[in-house]
Amino acid sequence: MKNRGLLIVFSGPAGTGKGTVCKEFLKHNSDSVLSVSATTRAPRPGETDGKEYFFVSEKEFKKMINEDGFLEYASFCGNYYGTPKYKVEEKLEAGLNVILEIEVQGAMQIKQKVPGAVFVFIAPPSKEILRERIEGRGTETQEIIDKRMKIAENELKQIKNYDYVIVNDEVEKAVKSFEDIKNAERCKVLRNMNFIQEVCK
Ligand code: ADP
Ligand code: 5GP
Repeated sequence: MKNRGLLIVFSGPAGTGKGTVCKEFLKHNSDSVLSVSATTRAPRPGETDGKEYFFVSEKEFKKMINEDGFLEYASFCGNYYGTPKYKVEEKLEAGLNVILEIEVQGAMQIKQKVPGAVFVFIAPPSKEILRERIEGRGTETQEIIDKRMKIAENELKQIKNYDYVIVNDEVEKAVKSFEDIKNAERCKVLRNMNFIQEVCK
């Protein structure tokens, strides 16, 4: 019998490199998938509906809240973001690890709701480097960058609520740490009780 997949919550200030690290990780880890969130934020150039996000109106988002369609959701920097329940359970049951790339308020909702979820925080090497990365991406106005930096300072204070922290100085090293965490978590005795019961018969 296949073990259930891990629900991995991956948080870190916007611009730290979550997307970059996750994309690289998924290239080499076919046992894992990324959950696609819904958001009311406008798409950035190059983003496609259904790939990076499901881009929805505020009305549609609120309808999904009322229908209990989200595993978690939060308001961030003036927009709503949420993890659709749809498919997460099905993928976990099929043995796939599901990664939720979400901010800290949503992560704490998962902590309340989902026993056994794994909480990984990705931090920038410094606040200065974080600002450089957000500016370097060139997708936000200066006003939004300042807002996001303020939010980042509060988010960094939440690291203590996570199980693991990865400092993203080099993408390759950060991806390796993420893989190490996934592999160690999958080897935990408590996650392998089916095998243990079978082998001890
Ligand atoms: P997030 O998903 O956390 O918002 P992104 O993955 O979009 O962040 O990364 C923000 C910017 O930082 C991008 O331009 C990306 O290429 C760059 N970046 C990510 N990781 C690193 C790294 N380890 N070193 C240098 N630049 C990085
Ligand atoms: P961005 O606008 O840069 O794509 O995302 C802004 C923040 O929202 C990031 O920290 C990102 O991880 C977070 N985020 C993306 N999807 C979700 C989601 O479904 N739920 C929550 N709570 N946060 C999300």
